[in-house]
Amino acid sequence: MMQTKTIIEHIVKDSGKSRESLMPILQEVIKQKNYISEKDILDIAEGLDLSPAEIYGTATFYSFLDTKKRGMYVIRLCKSIIAVMKGKDEIEKVITKILHIKPGESTQDNMFTFLETNDIGWSDKEPSMLINEDLFIELTPEKTTEIIKAYISGDEKLIDSFQTKSIISDKSCSNSNQSKCGELKGFVKKADMIFNKDCDSLQKLSAAIKIDKDNFISELIESGLRGRGGAGFPTGLKWKFAKSAQSEEKYVICNADEGEPGTFKDRVILQEVPCKVFAGMALCGHIVGAKKGFLYLRGEYIWMANDLKAKLEESNQMFIDLGLDFNIEIRMGSGAYVCGEETALIESMEGKRGEPRNKPPYPASAGFRDKPTVINNVETFIFALEIANIGAQHFKTMGTSDSAGSKLFSISGDTPKPGVYELELGMTLADFVEEFGDGDTKAVQVGGASGFCVPRRKFKDTIIGFEGIPTGGSMMLFNSHRSMYNVLHNYLEFFSEESCGQCTPCRVGCQQLFNGVEAIKSREKSENYLDDLLELSETMKIASKCGLGQSVANSFKSIVREFKEEIVY
Ligand code: SF4
Repeated sequence: MMQTKTIIEHIVKDSGKSRESLMPILQEVIKQKNYISEKDILDIAEGLDLSPAEIYGTATFYSFLDTKKRGMYVIRLCKSIIAVMKGKDEIEKVITKILHIKPGESTQDNMFTFLETNDIGWSDKEPSMLINEDLFIELTPEKTTEIIKAYISGDEKLIDSFQTKSIISDKSCSNSNQSKCGELKGFVKKADMIFNKDCDSLQKLSAAIKIDKDNFISELIESGLRGRGGAGFPTGLKWKFAKSAQSEEKYVICNADEGEPGTFKDRVILQEVPCKVFAGMALCGHIVGAKKGFLYLRGEYIWMANDLKAKLEESNQMFIDLGLDFNIEIRMGSGAYVCGEETALIESMEGKRGEPRNKPPYPASAGFRDKPTVINNVETFIFALEIANIGAQHFKTMGTSDSAGSKLFSISGDTPKPGVYELELGMTLADFVEEFGDGDTKAVQVGGASGFCVPRRKFKDTIIGFEGIPTGGSMMLFNSHRSMYNVLHNYLEFFSEESCGQCTPCRVGCQQLFNGVEAIKSREKSENYLDDLLELSETMKIASKCGLGQSVANSFKSIVREFKEEIVY
């Protein structure tokens, strides 16, 4: 086990004595010791010339940076609504039975700590859990028993046999002969830009950088491409603003911190076509005048980090070969949903609590290190690269005027075919359900917990896209027997835990909504109290600082209004 002072020395030697070194130091301390002690905090404060309060404040913000003593193995069982639907409670019982501890507790010998965690990005294969950095999916009670026993006996071979490993290989990015779509029926149109057979990122980037920069930005604007993370800002405009910003120093950041419940498409992209993402980032750097790129990978995807770094080395070499003065580095997140918000992500990269900034200024003018910064989602960079090669008109042959092209959807819940699919935007929810439902779908949650819950009677009139319900791609299907109270309760617990607490309407509001629905269900409060809660959610929409607090009302209002009888009784 490496001592904390040695960790500090190594990281400061490589990255300098700046606050940006704080997250890598804290992450390495966790890797070595599983928790950050008071002594570690004092050592880090001294090593970085920061106050202990600053170190403590940052460490306690992130759920993966424990400051409480933990066991040698930290079990993090996913408790998302999909995990619950697929049998998470059974898995919890098994772990409790073997280890005699409940979530939040450690074994007496301090070998295990058992925690529950929010979505870890495997809604297509729940239940799932992380044990330290090891990943286990599609858990059954039997499999879980074997896994825990393997850890107890120290049988590494057995542990290995159950683990899900990264599949990034030499073949990723070179053959990509794997359309994720399969054959679709009905009116849902599949597309194949992300996982297409012709995945030569070198050739695509090489062709793209020959295009005049201003012409390419015009083409990107003309294409109508909007950010694929959910917010939907026009990509061409973002790149244009960053290009026109006057600064010697600019940055490109790929936001790979997909934490929305029910989303896992970036996981699949990074596993299958990582070089396409890196090439899209390099194209962006070339266009806007940035020499440095970062991919911010969510802490829950730590299991793929080493493979991704190896693949990145190849891409960085490719950029040199193409004569591009651009390279990319990977920065890790540490388990905070709010860091999916672009300015919170920047704060995190700067070694601070992931608290969203006031906007303006927007990152395109003052982002990372206060310099002009383009932040786009993983998927958006690939589409930009594709548009450089196929042109705006071709891209626009799919989708609608407001929602051009296709996008990836993470499909989970009560569906016979969970997975990642590239589909044309603008389809109706009725068409979507015909393709992915099993004939008994009563509601679809479009856009994850921060999106909208659409009941069956509205499927026909709901368009998936910016004309209707925009989505970052999370689509969760619920059948007739599912309790929408349980769904809402799960979301509200999620928001209460993930609110960064910076602004009162969100911090207090999330908790009030959570406590409020529980009180109504237990008849402690009358049905009329729902009206107060609806009003509160409206206030949160206006008064909260970032998308988290602003969007809680989406799922709250849509579930309460459409399934009131399930919430109240
Ligand atoms: Fe933080 Fe919530 Fe305010 Fe966003 S809305 S800044 S998550 S407290």
